[in-house]
Amino acid sequence: MMKLRHYQQGFKDGILNAWDEGYRSVLGVLPTGGGKTITFASIVADHKGAAVIVVHRKEILSQISQALALASEDLAAAGKMHRVVAPAKTIAMIRRKHLEKFGKCFIDPQAQTGVASVQTLTSAATGKDHRLQAWLAQVTLAVFDEGHHYVASGFWAKAVDMFSRAKLLFVTATPERADGTGLGIDNGGFAEVMIEGPTPRQLMDWGHLCKYDYFCPESDCDFSSVAVTAKGDFNAQAMRSRVVDSHLVGDIVRDYLRFAKGTQAICFMPDTCTADEMAAEFNASGVKAVSLNAKTDDGDRERSLQAFERGEIQVLVNVDLFDEGFDVPAATTCIMGRPTMSLAKYMQMVGRVLRTAKGKDKAIVIDPVRNWERHGQVTWPRVWSLKGKTKSDRENSDKVPQKVCTTCSQPYEAFRLECPYCGAVPIPPERKTPEQVDGDLTALDLDALDAMFAARDKANQDDNDFAAGLYAKNVPQIGHSSQIKRFRATKYRREVLRNLIGWWVGCQPADRPRAEIQKRFFLRFGVDMLTAETLGLQETDDLVEKIAAKFDKDVVAH
Ligand SMILES: [Zn+2]
Repeated sequence: MMKLRHYQQGFKDGILNAWDEGYRSVLGVLPTGGGKTITFASIVADHKGAAVIVVHRKEILSQISQALALASEDLAAAGKMHRVVAPAKTIAMIRRKHLEKFGKCFIDPQAQTGVASVQTLTSAATGKDHRLQAWLAQVTLAVFDEGHHYVASGFWAKAVDMFSRAKLLFVTATPERADGTGLGIDNGGFAEVMIEGPTPRQLMDWGHLCKYDYFCPESDCDFSSVAVTAKGDFNAQAMRSRVVDSHLVGDIVRDYLRFAKGTQAICFMPDTCTADEMAAEFNASGVKAVSLNAKTDDGDRERSLQAFERGEIQVLVNVDLFDEGFDVPAATTCIMGRPTMSLAKYMQMVGRVLRTAKGKDKAIVIDPVRNWERHGQVTWPRVWSLKGKTKSDRENSDKVPQKVCTTCSQPYEAFRLECPYCGAVPIPPERKTPEQVDGDLTALDLDALDAMFAARDKANQDDNDFAAGLYAKNVPQIGHSSQIKRFRATKYRREVLRNLIGWWVGCQPADRPRAEIQKRFFLRFGVDMLTAETLGLQETDDLVEKIAAKFDKDVVAH
């Protein structure tokens, strides 16, 4: 029996407790590489009665089956075998794997416990198979791997509805869907309660996940205006056209040689055409690579993975193959040539290389398609909810703006005055507008700063001067009094704003440099501190409200 790590045991206990408390349907969250499979295999192995593990694609059946074999190894004598619901050819392949790995086979077509792919489970053939149906009807525990796929409407729901008498467990690393649908039972999903394991950051601190270096090299491939489908991710055809118009493929080889030369790498590409070109480009540069996708023949894929494991192939280029659940041999480097709007996909891509291995010191992530801008770092604290997210939730999230160091290509929080990795101080070539210096007024050139001060003074001039200005501009007398009234009102609101800004600044830590405070203000509120005092009436009120709303958060957090 595989021994669970302390946090896996805690995670398992949390799930068992939830069922004990009377919940039927549990969502379990554990980061990629945290050992989800081992943990739920252990739950299934302990279960008395029929149980099934449902996987979302057939490529994963084999590794789940092996995990079940490991979880039940010493119980085998007592007959704790499992069945695999899949086409005969797939079962034969899995039997072979068992024999290779364990010297015996743990598959028994009559077993109480089983693993099935959602496609086979919901197929017409399965519906007509009476023996299979009899077993399915007995199932009292159903586990759904990659549980974020299962929502109440559509194809996936069918697989859940088959087990109306069973306890349900959905496991995932990212309980959030690109389409915003919630996984909670009241929000379009199935789960009644969520049990969270440790975060990626904790797993890294405890040494169970690898730390990593993250590089965002420049590429001319621009995905910013690519259409997003109803599922919430980029349109594949449109991604392809952007790649064709760019130098992404060549850039990636250059980046690999610069940041990760000699390491074993997994490279994600948006489509098979681009993936094939990518592999060819690597090979032409003397880096042995192959291109794989879901349609690649099982045998070919297996041979490629083994060659990769032996170090004969250095780069595995793939399309939507290694991003979910599919275990690949230890790789050090993740290259993202595929942009994604899906947080789950992003976390999985990076997660592929975060597994620890002997002699592996750090993982490397290369992101020329700017996924970091869409999702932030894997280690960022995230608040999960069963409720799902609306579009505006996602847009208004409290993400800290990031920038990429022009010296070492690593991303960091934009309010920092220098790169935390290499110490380089970003000096924009132009320092004429606050935008060019992220609101850091001390970095502006003097002419620009003078002009801004002049604008501020003018906006806040004496009422009499303002009136005199109206005469000078030949404004008809009849409009004067209303204009002066409005000018006074605006000035009064600016006074309120100025006090609020002063309060906000005063609450910053004493050792925080002024320039950083100005940058934080600019990045947080979208305007620099000087320009803020020149805004019109409505804009001033809006800003007052915005600062007041963020105030508690900014003072408490950093
Ligand atoms: Zn740097």
